[in-house]
Order: sequence, then structure tokens, then C-alpha cells
Amino acid sequence: DNRIKRIASSIRVIPDWPKPGVMFQDITTLLLDPLAFKDSIDLFVERYKDKGITVVAGVEARGFIFGPPIALAIGAKFVPMRKPNKLPGEVISEEYSLEYGTDVMEMHVGAVQSGDRVLVIDDLIATGGTLCAAIRLLERVGAEVVESACVIELPELKGRERLGDRPLFVLIKAK
Ligand code: IMP
Repeated sequence: DNRIKRIASSIRVIPDWPKPGVMFQDITTLLLDPLAFKDSIDLFVERYKDKGITVVAGVEARGFIFGPPIALAIGAKFVPMRKPNKLPGEVISEEYSLEYGTDVMEMHVGAVQSGDRVLVIDDLIATGGTLCAAIRLLERVGAEVVESACVIELPELKGRERLGDRPLFVLIKAK
């Protein structure tokens, strides 16, 4: 698919950032290529437009870039899944583990309801810990997570296994 090729070649890899040994997949260069950015949104919209999705949940921060255009195109709500102490209203929180220590993800109470059909979106899945936390949070309020989607998967980190039988869709698998 030419669109996948264009997207893949627009993503920049920055070695040793944010620390030595990490090959950081930088999607800001995809955003500089309007055709590649549009291709990425179109591919997600084509997949999700007829799936009865009522909510697109975007994971901070880069899920806030890809989520809203998808939500608008498929006629779904957009809900931000945020780092702690960012949301002003009452929140529901979920702790999850990182390589060193833990982090917390938060969502506004009432933003997602029992019966909602949710697409979770982020730029990249590495170990899968972040997406798992988002899914747990959404399931705790009774929503059905139809699928998680990312632009990039790092298959070596086995995030897909961590998600178990929860479906994951990605545009690009990186090394
Ligand atoms: P995980 O929880 O290990 O799957 O890490 C995924 C989270 O870390 C996502 O929110 C990503 O945005 C971020 N992340 C990890 N590695 C990269 C990268 O190489 N590029 C961009 N984001 C990354």
C-alpha cells in the first residue's frame, strides 16, 4: 500500500533519545507531511467508520493528535486519557507500571458510560503498559473497548502479547 509507505518514510527515528540505547520513533515529521498525516487518519477512518464506535479515547499526549480527526470523521465523541492532576473535574484513575516506577492515567467521570463502544488511540505501542491501563480504566466504567489502534508498533517489546485477546490494529511495525 502506497499510503503505508508514505507514512513509514515520514516518521523520523532519533537514536539515543530520551536516553542511550532508545531509538525514538518521532511522529512530528509525519505531521509535517500533510499527505502522510491525512493518509494515516484516512486509514483509521476507513477501518472504524462503520463499527458503531461512540467514543475515541486518546492517550496523552500524541493520542490527542490522531484521535480528534478520527472522532470527527466517524461521528464519535473524543475523550482525553490524561496524566495525573491535569483534568479539572472529578476523575477515575488507574495506576500502571513503567520500566522504573509507576504512573497514573486519569479520565473524567461521566465522559464514558456503560454501553459506549470505544476505540483507544495512541501514536505507538511499546510494552503495552500504557494501552492496558487505558483499557482497564474504560472497562471499569462499563465501556466496551472495541479495539486499540496505534500508528507504530515495536513488536520486539511484545506489547501485543500483553494485551492478550484484546484486538490491536497498527499501521506500521518498526524494528
Ligand atoms: P508502552 O506503555 O511501553 O507501550 O509505551 C507506549 C507509550 O510510550 C506511548 O504513550 C508512546 O507515546 C510512548 N513511547 C514509547 N516509545 C516511544 C517512541 O519511540 N516514540 C514515541 N512514543 C513512544
